[in-house]
Amino acid sequence: MTSPPEPPAPVLAVIGGGQLARMMAQPAIALGLPLRLLAEAQGVSAAQVIADHSVGDYRDLDTLRRVTAGCSVVTFDHEHVPTSHLHALEDDGLAVRPGPEALVHAQDKAVMRRRLAELGAPCPRNAVVHEAADVAAFGFPCVLKTSRGGYDGKGVWLVRSEAECTEPFAVAGAGGVELVAEEYVEFRRELSALVARSPSGQAAAYPVVETTQVDGVCREVVAPAPDLDPALAGQAQELALGLAGALDVTGILAVELFETTDGRVLVNELAMRPHNTGHWTQDGAETSQFENHLRAVMDLPLGSPRPRARWTVMVNILGGQHDSGRLWDGFPHALARDPRLRVHLYGKQLRPGRKVGHVNAYGDDLAECLERARHAAAWFAGELGEHSE
Ligand code: ADP
Repeated sequence: MTSPPEPPAPVLAVIGGGQLARMMAQPAIALGLPLRLLAEAQGVSAAQVIADHSVGDYRDLDTLRRVTAGCSVVTFDHEHVPTSHLHALEDDGLAVRPGPEALVHAQDKAVMRRRLAELGAPCPRNAVVHEAADVAAFGFPCVLKTSRGGYDGKGVWLVRSEAECTEPFAVAGAGGVELVAEEYVEFRRELSALVARSPSGQAAAYPVVETTQVDGVCREVVAPAPDLDPALAGQAQELALGLAGALDVTGILAVELFETTDGRVLVNELAMRPHNTGHWTQDGAETSQFENHLRAVMDLPLGSPRPRARWTVMVNILGGQHDSGRLWDGFPHALARDPRLRVHLYGKQLRPGRKVGHVNAYGDDLAECLERARHAAAWFAGELGEHSE
C-alpha cells in the first residue's frame, strides 16, 4: 500500500467563485500553490480554472468545514461569509485571512464608521439613522447606505427629502440591516489606496490611483492618479498602511477615498480582498495584487508594488444593451489593433451592466493609454461597430 502523495505545498482554500478567485489562480500556478475552491454554482468564473473545487453554500458551516479540511489557510473572493462561521473555523485551528475581527469592517459600514472614528481616520460626517425624521435631523441632501449587503452602488441612495427615504428604509428593514446616513461629499474625484499586509506585519503600498464610477460601478482606473499632490498621495498611503495595521488586515486592503475640492482625502469604504481598483497591477506593477494577496495570506515575503510603466489604465468591460455575440469575437480586432494591450476575461456571459472582463494599457503617454484601453473595452462590449473605426 502506498499512501497518497503529499501535496507539494500547503493548500489554500478560497471561498467564492467569482473573477477575483479566478485571477488568484494565475499567480497560484506560478507560485506552485494549490488552491481549493468553494464555488456557489457549477461553472462559475473561478470554477472554470481551479480544478479542485466543489459547489456549496458559504453560509453553511459544515460546508465550510468540509472544503477547508486539510487546508492551512482560508481566504475569500467576497466578504459575505458570516462572522460567526469565521470564528468557528479559527477555533478549529484554521488560519482565516483576513480574520473575522478585521473583515467585519469591510462587511458592515456602521461598524466601519465607528471604528474609523475611534482611529481618527478622516471620514464624511455620518450617523446611524432609524427613521426618516433622523435623516431630516442629519440634513439633506445626504447619502443613505445599508450597513451590510451593498455592492456596486446597490444599497446606496442619494436622498433630498423625507419622502425619498421610504425606499432605503424598506430595503434595510427587509434585509434586517441598519441604515447609515453620510454627508453628501462633493468630491473632486475618487481615489483608491491599495496595500498588502502579511500576518507577520510586512506591508507594501501600491501607488494611489484615480477611479471613475458610473452608476456605482467601477469603470476606469488610472495609475498613478494624475496630478495628485505628492503630499496627499503620501497621506493616503500612510492612512491605508495605518488602517491595515490597526485593523490587523491580512491580504489586500483597498481603501476607497474621496478627494475633496479643498485637498483632503476622506475614507469612503474598505475592501479586504483584491479589488477592482487594483486590477491594473496585473500588468502595470512588478507584483500584482493577486500575487501579493496570496503571498500575504500565506505569510510569504511580499513582492514589489512598484509600477512597471509611467501610466497604466484599466477599463472594465461591461455588458452593453445590445447582444454583441461572444466576447471571444472581439479578440481579432482588439489584439491586432494594439499588440501591447492586455486583456483579462472572466469566463462570463455578456449581460447588460455585468462586469465580464477588463483591459489594461500601459505606456508613457496617458492620453494614448486611455484611448487604447477605452477603445478595446468598448469594442469587446459591442459598443463599436465594424465601421466605427
Ligand atoms: P458600494 O458598497 O456599493 O461600493 P459605496 O459606499 O462605495 O458603495 O458607494 C458607491 C458610490 O456612491 C461611490 O463610489 C460614490 O461614487 C458614491 N458615494 C458613496 N458615498 C458617498 C458620499 N458620502 N458622498 C457622495 N457620493 C458618495
